[in-house]
Amino acid sequence: MTRILANDGITVGCKEALENAGFEVSLDNVPQKKLNEELKNFDVLLVRSATKVRKETIDACPNLKMIGRGGVGMDNIDVEYAQEKGIEVINTPAASSASVGELVFAHLFGMARFLPDSNRNMPLEGDTQFKELKKKFAKGVELRGKTLGIIGIGRIGQATANIALGVGMKVIATDPYIDDVTIDVDINGQNIPVDIKTIKFNKLLKQSDYITIHVPGGDKPVIGKKQFDMMKDGVGVVNCARGGVINEVDLVKAIEAGKVAYAGLDVFENEPKPAMQILMNDKISLTPHIGAATLEAQDRIGMELADKIIAFFGN
Ligand code: NAD
Repeated sequence: MTRILANDGITVGCKEALENAGFEVSLDNVPQKKLNEELKNFDVLLVRSATKVRKETIDACPNLKMIGRGGVGMDNIDVEYAQEKGIEVINTPAASSASVGELVFAHLFGMARFLPDSNRNMPLEGDTQFKELKKKFAKGVELRGKTLGIIGIGRIGQATANIALGVGMKVIATDPYIDDVTIDVDINGQNIPVDIKTIKFNKLLKQSDYITIHVPGGDKPVIGKKQFDMMKDGVGVVNCARGGVINEVDLVKAIEAGKVAYAGLDVFENEPKPAMQILMNDKISLTPHIGAATLEAQDRIGMELADKIIAFFGN
């Protein structure tokens, strides 16, 4: 019988689907130190981001046939090494795109009406300084009609564009590998295809009222001082991609200079200990890397994993 260790947990639906297909599934959370030993008894290892699957583990477990990552990023797995050893490595890249897109809009709607700062101040002064706070947060703006610049129009970029179009924003996008995309906006069961031709990066920086970034993580930031300088005064910037794609020191400086009116961050250069100057900045809307963390995305991740495992083993 094929044995699966889901070391960082899986959904009930995924476990049931696998068991119904004849797999044996363990949800035991084996500590990293004991993983190499314990994993010898399994054919498949499923992880999220917590468990690390490095060369030593792969070498120690010659029986391992598949490593599955529930989610997108595979930084915690030595993918190439595993593949060289003939191990199948799978992930679920599409399952969480809509969830990340909605989180982008949670940040955008919040920042447009000063919710992060308002939520920090209302519990402290809402009963004594109500009128002052009302005045302080009165100059919000609508998103409808504003231009959203999307850097990286892949899966999540497109899911974000979909919402933006529904909200009535103008969407522009830049992507060195994509010339144009068609976004199928589903409104009340009606499908409305909207074509978006990508434009040059610098042009997007100059034209956008809001900018959201959806590129893979790389060695150096995509947005730093030079790019902030090109943006409109009062721009709003969101990073729900990877810590480090926006230079955080330059972001704080751009906020202090009034170039960036507000920012929304779900990911940080120094996770899990983001810089204090980011955490304490009242112009920054903050979430602790929860872009993919919705119940619906978890269900889709689970079902996508189960489907791929069942297809691979031919059960
Ligand atoms: P994807 O591969 O579908 O899309 C990325 C796009 O970025 C591609 O179209 C690529 O051509 C483009 N690109 C690459 N370099 C670029 C550049 N310099 N400028 C402009 N475009 C560029 O990936 P995705 O699934 O949309 O994921 C996007 C990001 O979101 C990744 O960094 C991923 O790790 C992150 N993510 C975050 C969360 C979260 O919890 N916040 C969850 C899932 C994914």
